[in-house]
Amino acid sequence: MVTTCDVLVVGAGPGGGSAALHAARLGLNVVVIEDHNEIGTPVHCGECISDIALSNLDLTLPAEVISKRVHGIRVIFPDGTQKRLTEHGYVLEKHLFEQWLVDQSVELGASLFLGHKLQTMERIEENGKFMGHLCDGKGDQFPINAKIVIDASGVAGICSKILELNDRPKVIAGMQYEMLDVPTDDYLDFYIWPEYAEKGYLWMIPKCEGRANVGLVTEVKSGAVKELDRFIADTDEFKNLEVVNPPWRDDGRKVRGFGGTIPISGPHETTHSDGILLIGDAAGFTSPLFEGGSHLALKSAQFAAKTAADAISKGDFTATNLKEYTESWKAEFPPYHKILRGKSALYSLSDNDMSVMGRCFPDEMSDMGVSGKAMVAIRLLIRRPSLYFRSIIPAMLAFGYSRAKYYGW
Ligand SMILES: Cc1cc2nc3c(=O)[nH]c(=O)nc-3n(C[C@H](O)[C@H](O)[C@H](O)COP(=O)(O)OP(=O)(O)OC[C@H]3O[C@@H](n4cnc5c(N)ncnc54)[C@H](O)[C@@H]3O)c2cc1C
Repeated sequence: MVTTCDVLVVGAGPGGGSAALHAARLGLNVVVIEDHNEIGTPVHCGECISDIALSNLDLTLPAEVISKRVHGIRVIFPDGTQKRLTEHGYVLEKHLFEQWLVDQSVELGASLFLGHKLQTMERIEENGKFMGHLCDGKGDQFPINAKIVIDASGVAGICSKILELNDRPKVIAGMQYEMLDVPTDDYLDFYIWPEYAEKGYLWMIPKCEGRANVGLVTEVKSGAVKELDRFIADTDEFKNLEVVNPPWRDDGRKVRGFGGTIPISGPHETTHSDGILLIGDAAGFTSPLFEGGSHLALKSAQFAAKTAADAISKGDFTATNLKEYTESWKAEFPPYHKILRGKSALYSLSDNDMSVMGRCFPDEMSDMGVSGKAMVAIRLLIRRPSLYFRSIIPAMLAFGYSRAKYYGW
């Protein structure tokens, strides 16, 4: 028997959960499939989300998905200089957050099929009119006939792969350990220390009861675990602390890290096609400097649900009628290539120049304003004129765009 629906959401991460919730709120007949047998595990995220993201998405978190309230980000430059980007938010129990999102969509009538992996798609036409896709794969509810498929399959980008819509993205590796008794003042500590994380950074993201995610992203994929171990061994705050398995991992398993890959080549060229909308990591939406993707996934999902509802009400789900989605995210999301230029400028600096730049920033970077930026410029012009012209403007832009209001987290 063929399962039919208005919208098939592929993947139940934050993007898929948000797409299912918003589509169900709009009264669509929604099916969500998830490859794994449980939503959200293994966790592949530092697990933080800003207040701005939650209010942007109209989400009120239940207590059980929250691990800790946090004040913002502290950036630590190579010489130890520390500067804050204060804006409040939460560290989540991310798998519980993702489960909560999908549960709400199910309460509104969506169907959830776990252990279902999309593998093939066939275009359906009737009398020359596009009618949707017949989707098949591993799982007993297949085949599924969907007017619109929302691809929320993360970095796997399964619809792009099957339909050859986009090139494979460039990716960066991220991994972390859960550690215990980690000291914190409730800031997320981001270490820009290229010695350990080349073209990336390291983090300590505090959780409840002294727990913390300590991890890194680096372009040197094969060395990620070794470099993280070396960072922990060399850093006084962490070197004597215990590494444990996170609570969602079965007892008795060997202690090890968890993580994944993150797309870093920017939004895909094609994010909509006949009966297809790509969202979140599957569309290449991650914030370039600190690689946060949850806020972008949640928001792109909202745009996709709205576009899907409009197209279905008109009875035409061809690309022409879905282009509103691509227009929406382009109008809303910050300019990827400008931020990327800032990131490249930052990572082209020596450790010493990076630290000089850090020392010129005000202690609180969240709202520098025109006078604050002018002060940084004057300090840099005095200390390193060449640095000012080469890197300060794009790097300052990249830090600015890492704020929550620009979908940084
Ligand atoms: C180590 C690490 C730390 C990170 N830290 C942060 C952070 O602190 N803050 C932040 O905002 N972002 C962070 N990110 C990025 C963030 O995790 C992603 O941007 C975000 O999860 C994207 O959400 P998504 O829903 O698009 O994709 P995903 O969360 O990847 O979800 C995709 C889902 O699709 C499923 N799937 C894949 N293929 C199929 C298929 N064929 N059929 C059915 N289901 C399928 C997968 O199993 C998965 O559940 C981090 C990433 C990593 C790797």
